[in-house]
Amino acid sequence: MDNPCLRCGACCAHYRVSFYWTEADPFLGGSVPPELTVPLNHTRAAMRGTLHTPVRCVALDGEVGGTVSCTIYPHRSSPCRELEPWEEDGRPNERCNRARAAHGLPPLDPRTDKPLGPGHTPLPLSA
Ligand code: SF4
Ligand code: SF4
Repeated sequence: MDNPCLRCGACCAHYRVSFYWTEADPFLGGSVPPELTVPLNHTRAAMRGTLHTPVRCVALDGEVGGTVSCTIYPHRSSPCRELEPWEEDGRPNERCNRARAAHGLPPLDPRTDKPLGPGHTPLPLSA
């Protein structure tokens, strides 16, 4: 089955992407480029562009619903890695379909083949 994320990006332009601030501190093992983040509070940071509407993560390249990519894919944050289009049993992820609906994209169908498993989504999202 094709990966729908490569022609979507809706979650990257719908949800706030926030994470524990050390994920953006290279001296503490963080991988997210700190210049692409903003402080959220004393423990959390967020991807630039995701705190205010219209939401659009600064790292998203392309047009939502067209060809998209994450410009920091290998360095993306934990919430980006955790959002999957489908649940383990093949049901579409509700959060994914909610973001897609907000951008006028159709919901994903349940998948019948074997899911790729965690960490294989090109454009996962956040919290
Ligand atoms: S996880 Fe869902 S909303 Fe996010 S890019 Fe993939 S298909 Fe789109
Ligand atoms: S996957 Fe990439 S483009 Fe999408 S929210 Fe995360 S950092 Fe931004």
